Amino acid sequence: MEWSTTKRGRPAALYQGYSYVFHKELKTLEGVSVWRCAKKNAHSCNACIYISGDDVFRDPLPAHAHTANWGEIGAKVIVEKAKKAAHRDPYEYPQAIWDQVLQDVVTVEVAGQMPAARTAKKMIQNVQRGEKGHGKEPQNLKDIEHIPDQYICLKNQHWLLKDTGKEDPERQLIFATDEGLHTLFTSTYVLGDGTFKTVPRMFLQLYTLHGNGIHGVFTPFV
Ligand SMILES: [Zn+2]
Repeated sequence: MEWSTTKRGRPAALYQGYSYVFHKELKTLEGVSVWRCAKKNAHSCNACIYISGDDVFRDPLPAHAHTANWGEIGAKVIVEKAKKAAHRDPYEYPQAIWDQVLQDVVTVEVAGQMPAARTAKKMIQNVQRGEKGHGKEPQNLKDIEHIPDQYICLKNQHWLLKDTGKEDPERQLIFATDEGLHTLFTSTYVLGDGTFKTVPRMFLQLYTLHGNGIHGVFTPFV
């Protein structure tokens, strides 16, 4: 048995080519619930199964009033896999996730019921967006659309001097205060060095310019 979600966001149980939605808890057996055919209204179908945890332990009764749709149910399983991957990997390219799950489409019936790539990628992006939330560290510079004000200004001074932009595949952000730049320009020595290690995950490299100002102590300014 597999799980999916209905259009209204309710869980749906996928079992042997049919989809089921929650009906009620079974009073006579603890932990067991009754799920009825999701096509109940469309096909006047009264078939129900009993589910406990992830196990089905009574086959549909009465029999379904319609044939199983293996293609539709198979496609739901694949879509669910894509959603799970999107939860797990909110910074992966939606196309890459979709390509990956499409490898599991093995029958013509399932292929015929798959959503269009555009629709699927939007769905993946939506899941990923929810997963990123606020306060989580971006994993990639391309994820940063808008730089919050607190990183643009520092103590009422310019702090973000240059952003080469989201579209730049080698995006660079340069941070310095006017005061810092001034001290750097008056320094006897300027040292530059980069690190690939101690740097927020979204950056490849942190490159700093240190100057010794007029006091002789090297301090990072850019
Ligand atoms: Zn049915």
